[in-house]
Amino acid sequence: MRSKKKIAMLCSTVLLSAGLISPTFADSPNKGAQASENKNYSTSAFISHDELSRSLEQIEKTSKGTVEVEVAGHSNQGREIYTATVGTGDKVLLLQSEIHGNEKTGTRALLNILKHLGSNNSPEAEYIRENVTIVAMPMINPDATELNRRGNDLSWSEVEEAFPQLNGVTPSWNYYTYQNEYWDYASNPGFDVNRDFNPNLDYMPQPEDFPGKSEKPGWYITPEAQTVRDVYKDLKEQFGTVDVFVDLHHQGVYQIEGSGEPVTLSLSGQFVPDSEATEGGKYAEYADQYNIDLSKQLSVAAYDALQEMGNSPFANISLYPQELDLPGTALGAFALNGSGTVLFEVTGQTQSYGQKRIGQLVKAVETGLYGIINGVASDGVYEINTDRYDDIPLTDRSQQYGH
Ligand SMILES: [Zn+2]
Repeated sequence: MRSKKKIAMLCSTVLLSAGLISPTFADSPNKGAQASENKNYSTSAFISHDELSRSLEQIEKTSKGTVEVEVAGHSNQGREIYTATVGTGDKVLLLQSEIHGNEKTGTRALLNILKHLGSNNSPEAEYIRENVTIVAMPMINPDATELNRRGNDLSWSEVEEAFPQLNGVTPSWNYYTYQNEYWDYASNPGFDVNRDFNPNLDYMPQPEDFPGKSEKPGWYITPEAQTVRDVYKDLKEQFGTVDVFVDLHHQGVYQIEGSGEPVTLSLSGQFVPDSEATEGGKYAEYADQYNIDLSKQLSVAAYDALQEMGNSPFANISLYPQELDLPGTALGAFALNGSGTVLFEVTGQTQSYGQKRIGQLVKAVETGLYGIINGVASDGVYEINTDRYDDIPLTDRSQQYGH
């Protein structure tokens, strides 16, 4: 099993086709063919920022105070970024969606969970509310949502205005100014917000840290990352630690290594190298709190919940490429702060996949999240053997991005 994994990892680093690792279409080899094929993909089943606002208001009202909705901050274009909190337990889970605006199923999954836990009087729902506090942040990058793209809507000159110490420095490496058939970052530039995080939650941008790179931390120059960071810091202060952080994404279309079954969802609990979070490693200052075991246990809890759905697409779950070093992602930064962290990568982004299988994919995300929520509420997750993480089948990423 070990050697297989190494081969898969090598493939993934060569291809870098989608998901957390890189933008899907920035350097896709057959853009033209995809463009003509993609024209008809509808995304109308996904929700807009206005619909999110209305939906959260309705959920709060119907729950009669069980769900509390607050505005945590605003996007660069002034759209609200919300937190919706349910439960009163002393373990806290922060669940985030749509940091990439073309990766939308997580938002619907979070709304479904809020709706259910806000109004359901079953003993199961009651048990969850008593034992955990769930803080959902659906659609944290609403400007990208409205543009149906990965990056936010923020120019480098606006960054220089906000941080005058950065005047004249080379813009950060995750700043998009290209144009292709899907997005016009040339006239409307933006940043990959999911590279703007820093494990030092008090970090202030320094000119010498630009343009930076993938294996370096980010800078909190985007209002969207700042908002999530502020929520995280508040929760850390309130609860001592943020027990769990889950980030909901989409990836390309892949098969499971070995079986060849189409992947429904990939999971991961590893975003910075374990070896670096030790004395002497580059993340030594975070070594005491970094908890890779919990991240693995939480990933297995999600995996098990999906396997319980039986022999169906819901069981087609794989492990996302491992051996990552991404301290600028929310997952990497928060893992180094001691949270158990899990990445969900559902199949297909809107440009290539539209809203195909939306009901099934939303259900898969919900099911995996309930696996984590139930495991934390009952403490069962802390008993899971971490070796089982390595038994989750790998994703075959040796294929071209396809349909
Ligand atoms: Zn993503």
